Amino acid sequence: MKRFAVASALILSLVQAAQLSGQASPDWNALARESQGILSDYLRVNTTNPPGNELLGARFHKNILAREGIEATILDTTELGPNRANLYARLRGNGTKKAIALVHHIDVVPVTPASWSVDPFSGAVRDGYIWGRGAIDMKGHGIAQLMAMVALKRSGARLTRDIVFIGNADEELGSMGAIVFVNRHPDLLKDVEFLITEGADNVLDSAGKVVYFGVGVSEKRTFWQRLTVNGVPSHGSRPTKVNPVPRLVAALYKISQYETPLHVTPGVDRFFRDIARTYPEPQRSWLSNVRVALDNPRAREWILSDVTWNAILRNTISLTGLSGSNKTNVIPGVATAEIDVRLLPDQDTTEFLRTLQGIVGDTAVHFTHLGNTKAPLESPIDTDFFHAIERAAHDREPGAFVTTPMETAATDRPTYRKVGITTYGFNPFKVPRAEIQRGMHGNDERLSLDNVGYGVRFYYDILRYAQ
Ligand SMILES: [Zn+2]
Repeated sequence: MKRFAVASALILSLVQAAQLSGQASPDWNALARESQGILSDYLRVNTTNPPGNELLGARFHKNILAREGIEATILDTTELGPNRANLYARLRGNGTKKAIALVHHIDVVPVTPASWSVDPFSGAVRDGYIWGRGAIDMKGHGIAQLMAMVALKRSGARLTRDIVFIGNADEELGSMGAIVFVNRHPDLLKDVEFLITEGADNVLDSAGKVVYFGVGVSEKRTFWQRLTVNGVPSHGSRPTKVNPVPRLVAALYKISQYETPLHVTPGVDRFFRDIARTYPEPQRSWLSNVRVALDNPRAREWILSDVTWNAILRNTISLTGLSGSNKTNVIPGVATAEIDVRLLPDQDTTEFLRTLQGIVGDTAVHFTHLGNTKAPLESPIDTDFFHAIERAAHDREPGAFVTTPMETAATDRPTYRKVGITTYGFNPFKVPRAEIQRGMHGNDERLSLDNVGYGVRFYYDILRYAQ
């Protein structure tokens, strides 16, 4: 009797919950098939950057959204140049909570068609995969976002948060799409609390089961520098004291010998603690407290031997470009070098430049800042949206955990972070690392048909849980 009462109370509360959310659950198989077809079509839209042609992709989304009764706007066509555009759409909630933005980039990197097994812009379906440039980076991801939003609209779910859908131009080259969008449309973003886009990967075991889901909370910042030394040009047969090349080489040697201090940020600390469980002893103990482990020579050597781990534990400097004379017998009037500096999110650029100048110790070596250094990115972990991602992840893979790797490369996230939005990097699919390595910016990029439905439903759950 008691058991019956509990059961009926539970059923009643489930019914009430369903009524409250006003939701009819989607037909997942039908939605997956529909999404696969849409991804295939999207891959046929050639948005290779350069030149981009993102306007075609923006129109593609606008048409689909119009059919669903979701208004979309094509923006920034003048600012971005011929056939280029950003796309913006919004599914309205009741406004009691702030909005969530789903962001993907419409452009893709160029292809070498001869190296592909299929036409990279055919959207071919073969061997259980949808093939094409952008399948992984990141048109597949964009379609998972789009169709999750469409499914929420169709279900009639009562949303407390608006869902904003943004397609940006030019992520793969100059990031002008996101930069122009943020600068020109602060009004469209002012109520956005959370934003989700690319910038993390999930790690699978050899059987294809998820070991952990990565949610990117931070990324390194580029702080590129050009070093210039001026001298006096003359004939190489008579060495002089005013040859700029040895002076530059001496500066570069000092930089190459400089070991930047190790520094553990909160997200990286958590990342190591999280993944510790996947290692045997003594590595497990080392990773469980990486700050302490870095004082232990054996642990330190092992941790820093991983190039990614090394890069998330310190500011890094790679010596890359170098130029002096283009003739063996000419002492040049100027010698230059370029260095790829990447800073941890909490570092001060002015201070780091002073450190570099101090290491070089030669005022004849001039430093010029190249490119624009983006705003620091370190998003909080203890938020409603992060917990929604965790919950959706645990639903589908109870044995997996969620962790917070730092991105060593650059994404559009800092551009949005600059205006106060909490941004997360995410990947809604289960793709083996080898597949990502091969396909992303490489040849035969493809996404499994199963992953399409998986990604749409993953996003749908995250958006529902975040209400
Ligand atoms: Zn990308």
